[in-house]
Amino acid sequence: MATILIIEDDDVIAEFMGAVLAKEKHTIHLAHSALEGLSTFRMWSIDLILLDLGLPDQDGIEVLKKIRETSSVPIIIISARDHENNKVEALDLGADDYITKPFGTPELLARIRTALRHAVSNAGSQTEIKKIINGELCIDIEHHTVSKQGKEIHLTPNEYKIIQVLGENIGKVLTHTYISQKVWGPYSNESQTLRVNMSNIRKKIEDNPVEPEFIMTEIGIGYRMLEK
Ligand code: CA
Repeated sequence: MATILIIEDDDVIAEFMGAVLAKEKHTIHLAHSALEGLSTFRMWSIDLILLDLGLPDQDGIEVLKKIRETSSVPIIIISARDHENNKVEALDLGADDYITKPFGTPELLARIRTALRHAVSNAGSQTEIKKIINGELCIDIEHHTVSKQGKEIHLTPNEYKIIQVLGENIGKVLTHTYISQKVWGPYSNESQTLRVNMSNIRKKIEDNPVEPEFIMTEIGIGYRMLEK
């Protein structure tokens, strides 16, 4: 159960989300504009924000920037299909995930669960994680190895790093830029190399690389490791 702030000017969508989340026993605050959203955020202790990018008074991106100045509260972007670039910008500015309209209840709830879980695990990250187990896949962070069904998969160092970054963020979309900077350093933009590496990774870890089960492509945005 969490306290969730919905910043969305479309009443139909806001009320749909509010009803779905109230049914899950979350506490809901609704705001219909950027300014109302920011003042509501300051007034209550909020665990997660659902943020529309197209708000009447200000761009949702501005709300995101203001909140990120002081808070790492999980923020999920609610975006329209024609705002692809905004989505990437929002993710690179520190949004945790996005969901594209129109979306269904299971998708919304899954995104919220993932974002809340990452918030909790970041808060308690003093204990170092040594292994990430995701279904048949095991990422051994101590030894920098990956195995599937107990059999070690031979990866190049960069392929390993890519899997580790995705594994540490299971369920969450990561942009090309984010992954690139984690693997190749802070100023790099190796989208093309990343694509080549991903194709090789899929040949190694997926039963059928054309229909991946572990790592999904988010077209124009990045990749997401699915939770098994
Ligand atoms: Ca809107």
